[in-house]
Amino acid sequence: MKQTLLFATNNQHKVEEIQKILPPNYQIISLNEAGIHIDIEEPYNTFEENAYKKAQTIYELTNQDCFSEDSGLEVDILDGAPGVKSARYAGIEQNYQKNNDKLLIELADKQIRSARFRTVICLIMQHHTHYFEGICEGTIGYSAKGNHGFGYDPLFIPIGSHYTFAEMDITEKNKFSHRKKAFDKMIAFLESQAYGKN
Ligand code: IMP
Repeated sequence: MKQTLLFATNNQHKVEEIQKILPPNYQIISLNEAGIHIDIEEPYNTFEENAYKKAQTIYELTNQDCFSEDSGLEVDILDGAPGVKSARYAGIEQNYQKNNDKLLIELADKQIRSARFRTVICLIMQHHTHYFEGICEGTIGYSAKGNHGFGYDPLFIPIGSHYTFAEMDITEKNKFSHRKKAFDKMIAFLESQAYGKN
């Protein structure tokens, strides 16, 4: 029998990335699939607090084990910006194109373009809260490249590749991805708890 976990997100790209790496004994249900239509605010200054807010809101609503993830891009020369504000870097409407345009303008005269994606997963299981972090180091390109993915994918080149995330399909992105690293840690934890076993 498959073990089901509710993924507290409205971001279909995140769901697709996670679905691709799911071990066969697990099933992920998105908020949309669960018929839950709710927009949860992310008011805090850390990924941990925002991830907790999302997971806790859904846990209270459904009484089901669930996890959320909060993620963002940290650019060294911008003192870690956009960071937790990644989704709304260029304004509250969460426009990927405008966010990328703003980042390119901020970095226009910058040679040092090192950056990282960071993800924190918050899992609430049987009233206990657990966190799992994943980091992907890379650099910010000089122009947007590729059509896959979402967010800053057209600008982010992970260390170990010459291509942006947006030039990779999901399987290729998952070889580097911060989200995959955090998710692998969560699955290892669940396996250690025998959560995924019959
Ligand atoms: P949130 O976790 O829903 O608050 O949104 C995180 C924001 O960070 C997204 O809207 C994207 O702009 C950015 N982001 C997080 N992970 C990725 C990724 O894997 N690729 C590209 N952008 C990402």
